[in-house]
Amino acid sequence: MISEIAAKTILSAVPQPDPWFGLRYSMNLYRGCQHQCIYCDSRSTCYGIENFSDILVKANAIELLRRELPRRRVKGTIGTGSMHDPYMPLEAERRLTRRALEAIAEHRFPVHVITKSDLVVRDADVLSGISAVYAAVSFTITTADDSLAARLEPGAPSVSRRLRGMEALSGRGVLVGVVLMPILPFLEDTEGNIRAIVTRAHQAGAAYIVPAFGMTLRDRQRDYYYAQLDCLFPGLRKRYEQRFGDRYSCGVPNAHRLEECFRSVCADRGLAIRMPVYPAPSAEQLSLF
Ligand code: SF4
Repeated sequence: MISEIAAKTILSAVPQPDPWFGLRYSMNLYRGCQHQCIYCDSRSTCYGIENFSDILVKANAIELLRRELPRRRVKGTIGTGSMHDPYMPLEAERRLTRRALEAIAEHRFPVHVITKSDLVVRDADVLSGISAVYAAVSFTITTADDSLAARLEPGAPSVSRRLRGMEALSGRGVLVGVVLMPILPFLEDTEGNIRAIVTRAHQAGAAYIVPAFGMTLRDRQRDYYYAQLDCLFPGLRKRYEQRFGDRYSCGVPNAHRLEECFRSVCADRGLAIRMPVYPAPSAEQLSLF
């Protein structure tokens, strides 16, 4: 079900420092996600989303953003792509992300987009304009295998399409890379998978790959994931239960070896393993506000 809501605010301050992406603000234009990845953390009870397949569109988002941007005097990176995908299929028609990027470009803020969709290429013109300040697009890729991705991320475009999207944006001068997380234990934790993702991302113009060697699991998210494992990979739930019990942080069993492999392939290809972020304002600059 898709419905509209009126939001109260659209930019939230991110607790500093953000070690992954250097974000200062987060912006969520939708709530819920059509990509329906079976491992999605946003199903956790703490986020208060009763039915994650119901999509809420923040109908007044652009109006709010245009009001809030001039009031944010510290120019810091605006991140979008947590708890929803800003380029889920609905965006093709609603164009909230595009219109938000246009407002961000006018106010000269830096931006970081995380997505699993090549629909982002539609906005290459706006993103390459924002690149004069700072724009980065990170494609989430957890497996190099299109058929496995179709089972794990049933509503998202194939990995091959994501990589073609990355190549197109890179060709337009936009900073692009990969968010290689989660890596699902017993499904994606092979050296072959890691090597294939790094190699293909490099060919597509990625400048960085940010990994996490495992996944998180809690309450409703775990229940949903295990139910999906029962349908898609019968017998696998038992291995998870034996290895992880009630643990939140579930590292892949061979994390050390996999990380060594990852670092070595990235070094061979000159890929950064941390994201080049927009510089945080100095204490001196902050004191001016
Ligand atoms: S694309 Fe991201 S937010 Fe959407 S279902 Fe997948 S993991 Fe969740």
